[in-house]
Amino acid sequence: MLFDVARLRDDFPLLQRGSGRAPIVYLDNAATTLKPRPVIEAVRGYLAEYSGNVHRGQHALADRATEAYEDSRRRVARFLGARASEVVFVRGTTEAIGLVAGGLELRPDDNVVVSVLEHHSNLLPWRARCGVRVVGLDAAGVPDLAAAAAAIDARTRLLAVTACSNVTGVYVAVQAWAALAHRHGLPLLVDAAQLAAHRGIDVQGLQCDYLALSGHKLFAPPGSGVLYGTHAALERLAPAHLGGGCVKHVGLDLDYELRDVPWRLEAGTPDIAAAIGLGAAVEYLEDIGLDAIEAREDALRELLDAEVATLPGLHAHSPSPARAPMLTVTARDGALGSEYVARVLSDTFGVMVRAGHHCAHPLHAALALPATLRASLAFYNTEDDVLRLRDGLRALLRRGAG
Ligand code: PMP
Repeated sequence: MLFDVARLRDDFPLLQRGSGRAPIVYLDNAATTLKPRPVIEAVRGYLAEYSGNVHRGQHALADRATEAYEDSRRRVARFLGARASEVVFVRGTTEAIGLVAGGLELRPDDNVVVSVLEHHSNLLPWRARCGVRVVGLDAAGVPDLAAAAAAIDARTRLLAVTACSNVTGVYVAVQAWAALAHRHGLPLLVDAAQLAAHRGIDVQGLQCDYLALSGHKLFAPPGSGVLYGTHAALERLAPAHLGGGCVKHVGLDLDYELRDVPWRLEAGTPDIAAAIGLGAAVEYLEDIGLDAIEAREDALRELLDAEVATLPGLHAHSPSPARAPMLTVTARDGALGSEYVARVLSDTFGVMVRAGHHCAHPLHAALALPATLRASLAFYNTEDDVLRLRDGLRALLRRGAG
């Protein structure tokens, strides 16, 4: 079936308007994605038509809000191959990992095993609670599983790994990590922030105990996200917050009984509009089809690789072809700083990419990289977007050389 990118682009208001000049070329999808009309409409619908609170009312607006919120949970659960009771709504990946790190019983002399590929959000929450053993990369740029096995000892409490790097885009075989963790009776947490927009996720297949993702990287509003956990894994977590919505009963002496998961982990009024928007986003993606998205993006990534390879002044740092549609580069002679390049690409050429250390300072240090320039694609990007990036980079390299 032909991938009708023109029709899909019509769903995204930001791809229509441009920034006053030519339409924008948005290649910063790993930072956050643009939002399609069904998501915008779902948020508007809640705010304009039924903005009651959830789980707290005996009136029509509260009923409708609760129904939409729980319906969204069921849709997200289906999208992940999970049960609704295994989906905790959170604000994003950082909050999801924080809930696990803060909710598990960890002592300072315990440790968790992670990889050097991780975003700060999958490093610092552990560092705050216990020892962290950071596993390096093998020649293919993926975390070294044998090193992870060697790092486990009697005080190891959990393994945590990203399914897809936000710097190199490399995919990690998390099932192998799950098998390793389970051989030692340990849980595995998977950071799926960068995976979710590109590959269908099946938590049963991944065999993970926890999985974290951010709605805003999945065409949904900021303030939406998921902590998936098996029932047993979620029940092991002490709630980060206590208050309304998470208890069945509080006595006069303030003894209390927690509700079941997932609600016991969602104290307080949640970001209802964002959660409803996330449900609309996953439905939108299912309508397009994750397989069609994957095929389209793989072809675009190959074009991106080939076009950037025609620019001899650049060095690519994304070694593996098994990776998300992104490419991270630096100027070979170091003459052009990545932040400068990103600014000029935006201001002169209307091409938006990201430069910096991408909240992965340890990875940049391990690879001895300065700030890098990352172009990251989504299914709505076009061949022309890639060529405009190439042309902008070529002009900048010429200017830098001259
Ligand atoms: N992990 C990875 C791999 C990421 O790319 C990001 C976002 N850059 C995060 C975690 C944190 O996500 P958020 O800021 O949405 O919490």
